[in-house]
Amino acid sequence: MAILVTGGAGYIGSHMVLALADAGEKVVVIDNFSTGFPWLLPPNVAIRGGDVGDAGFVTSVIEEFGITELAHFAAKIVVPESVSNPMLYYGNNTAKSRTLFETAIKCGVERVIFSSTAAVYGDVSGDPVSEDILVNPVSPYGRSKLMTEWMLEDAAKAHGLSYVILRYFNVAGADPKGRSGQSFPIATHLIKIAVQAALGMRAKMDIFGTDYATPDGTCVRDYIHVTDLAQAHVDALSYLRSGGQNAILNCGYGRGFSVKEVVDVVKAVTKVDFRADIGPRRAGDPATIVAKSDKIRATLGWKPKHDDLEEIVAAAYAWEAKLKARNA
Ligand code: UDP
Repeated sequence: MAILVTGGAGYIGSHMVLALADAGEKVVVIDNFSTGFPWLLPPNVAIRGGDVGDAGFVTSVIEEFGITELAHFAAKIVVPESVSNPMLYYGNNTAKSRTLFETAIKCGVERVIFSSTAAVYGDVSGDPVSEDILVNPVSPYGRSKLMTEWMLEDAAKAHGLSYVILRYFNVAGADPKGRSGQSFPIATHLIKIAVQAALGMRAKMDIFGTDYATPDGTCVRDYIHVTDLAQAHVDALSYLRSGGQNAILNCGYGRGFSVKEVVDVVKAVTKVDFRADIGPRRAGDPATIVAKSDKIRATLGWKPKHDDLEEIVAAAYAWEAKLKARNA
């Protein structure tokens, strides 16, 4: 029995692979290496280069390794790109997932863990968001993921698959042992941008808007350490193996930090007073997005070990410094 991890050479997928390999599981990765890197993975993990939308390829990997479980990470994830090129997202995230699920069902896969996103909720500024509020994604990215959730729910009903859908909040940090981290060169997320500024890899950064209805006027987000997120996937797999019901679960800690707070923590951790200019709002940013996280804790018994912004930033900084040296 082996677990197939799609997008396993990417940022979050590679942390899942490390967590599974650390737990002694047999893991097989498929990745098209569009944003993933095979050197992030341990040497004992089988890697097959190819696309999740290629039914023949996926069938051959499932048959080669006797796969019964699937963790589906492979996706495009940049919200502004999804707005300017929606068909790319519906093709890559939705249509290819349809093919992947169809292939998995035909080949007898029993359990699926799917990477979804808080973007399915849409503009829900305010109180922590629970899984049962009405979903209303406002970007093609969020919609492409929500459609995939729905396909999985319907396929599970029709074909007896079991699944856990995990809705990620703001994922950051890097493997505490320094084996993986956010490695794609084009940074769009706040913590990676800020640590790059601290490392002198960019002259400055911008704070996008200070007139939001939040305590300091900047947006508030629930930053979750990627290692805790990976553990949530491992816990979800154990839960399904022991007969757990299909579930949709938020992955966040249930507390938020503002952009200014994050920038201050990056300056304190790195001891670099880099330039952070006040800029205009970035289109489409809700003021506050924080997870209600009781359901995942109760359902999976998930116990995060890295709920500490300083630790998240320190790990992201250490990884970025390592990457900088590697690429020098
Ligand atoms: N942000 C910022 N400057 C940057 C990048 C991000 O002020 O260079 C802000 C962004 O406007 C949002 C928060 O940081 O309020 C988190 O953005 P990120 O892109 O990391 O994640 P998102 O919440 O959009 O998924």
